[in-house]
Amino acid sequence: MSLLEVCDLKKYYPAGGGFFAPKRFVKALDGVSFTLEKGETLGLVGESGCGKSTLARALMRLEEPTAGAITLDGVDLLALKGEKLRKSRGNYQMIFQDPYASLNPRMSIYAVLEEALKLHSDLDKAGREERISELMKMVGLNPAHARRHPHQFSGGQRQRIGIARALAVNPRFIVADEPVSALDVSVQAQIVNLLQEIQQKTGVAFLFIAHDLAVVEHISSRIMVMYLGKIVESGPATELCADPKHPYTKALLSAVPGIHPEKKSERIVLTGDVPSPLDPPSGCRFHTRCPFATDRCRTEEPAMREIGPGRTCACHLV
Ligand code: SF4
Repeated sequence: MSLLEVCDLKKYYPAGGGFFAPKRFVKALDGVSFTLEKGETLGLVGESGCGKSTLARALMRLEEPTAGAITLDGVDLLALKGEKLRKSRGNYQMIFQDPYASLNPRMSIYAVLEEALKLHSDLDKAGREERISELMKMVGLNPAHARRHPHQFSGGQRQRIGIARALAVNPRFIVADEPVSALDVSVQAQIVNLLQEIQQKTGVAFLFIAHDLAVVEHISSRIMVMYLGKIVESGPATELCADPKHPYTKALLSAVPGIHPEKKSERIVLTGDVPSPLDPPSGCRFHTRCPFATDRCRTEEPAMREIGPGRTCACHLV
């Protein structure tokens, strides 16, 4: 049994309609399925607006999905309510893109971490103090600085605090939503390395979300590529980046300088923005931007198919 099983997850937001007009929906997530194994890092890539953050929020139960199932260690997360739901939150945590925005500027780091421990653990005051010191060390911060406030730390240090907060209660999996996008390149590498070290020590699983395929390839064992609310390709990270099959994956890869230059002969430059999920294109959702689109692509939606060991792709041409 996988640690996390997500099946046909949908999140639709109502968007107008009335007595005489048909109801309309923004289909932010439209049938997303995947599994995450214990201690694994699964990467999720796609442009902004493709549904990555909606998926993150649905997994954290910050958004109520419209349909589908989320099972963690065999427990149906969507069936949990009240106290059971609150207790379950210790098993799954999130690291945010902008740690500064997610940290209360009036609270010291000690108070931030203690709040998480009070909510999700039975530790007494002395136990919490010991755990806070341990967490600070684990993320490379000096425990003596625990009484400082967020503004007294650099961007990279604040992200370390966000990681410590997520780790406080020994979660089984963490959704890291663009955790390095706001950081300098040199700091990005430090944070990615820190996440890898933490995974080796604790066995926590990550869903690592980013728009940069190079970062995702470095940290993930598998990658999923998302476009307009759907997964369009998935597979082992090295294979998928060395030999992308879906035209959208090829386009994302083309956009990363210095990554797999041997593939650049197939360069696909994406033009235009991701279409609105309110009126997604008919057939293959990528057809309005795909240089290989045919008439069939405009009318018939390609099914997700297995195209090799552990690899899936939804494209009529693959
Ligand atoms: Fe392009 Fe057609 Fe494949 Fe969609 S199904 S990615 S439009 S070739």
